[in-house]
Amino acid sequence: MIKLHPAIDDGIPPAKEGFSGGTLKCHCASDPVTVEISSQTAHNHACGCTKCWKPDGAIFSQIAVVDRNRVKVTSGEEKLHVVDPNAAIQRHACKACGVHMYGRIENKSHPFYGLDFVHTELSHEEGWSPPEFAAFVSSVIESGVKPDQMPEIRERLEDLGLHPYDSLSPPLMDAIATHIAKQNGVLAA
Ligand SMILES: [Zn+2]
Ligand SMILES: [Zn+2]
Repeated sequence: MIKLHPAIDDGIPPAKEGFSGGTLKCHCASDPVTVEISSQTAHNHACGCTKCWKPDGAIFSQIAVVDRNRVKVTSGEEKLHVVDPNAAIQRHACKACGVHMYGRIENKSHPFYGLDFVHTELSHEEGWSPPEFAAFVSSVIESGVKPDQMPEIRERLEDLGLHPYDSLSPPLMDAIATHIAKQNGVLAA
């Protein structure tokens, strides 16, 4: 069976009730970067874009959001750098191992301002919010997946309960459009 991501290939563990976070750790064997997340995450999903960090061999990343005030670098901050300072999401990655520790939006008018993007499989704790859908599925072709593999990939995602979308899910696309409509005065703020 086609492998999509190590955290979802064997089935997706459910969220734990009352789960309140954990510590993300990069892949460095010594002096790893650690990031403390002090709440449950939301909108976790598999992402096929070329920007999100993926474990070795994975076709998708797994990425969730969390309030930026609940994200704290607890060690190794000096090892972090921003992968692309011009990107809307500034992905803070470990310079030594390349793992992305958190993605942050600094533009206050961005629809997702206030939310950081994190990969919860970097933590040993169990009970994080599970992925709910797959985003930017067609984009995996840009990272080298053969176009004729796409039907198999979409079918596997459906089997895992991760409905494949080629952008974000409808609730998130609606949230973006609502934010823009309010900014433009089309909708009352
Ligand atoms: Zn590292
Ligand atoms: Zn992505």
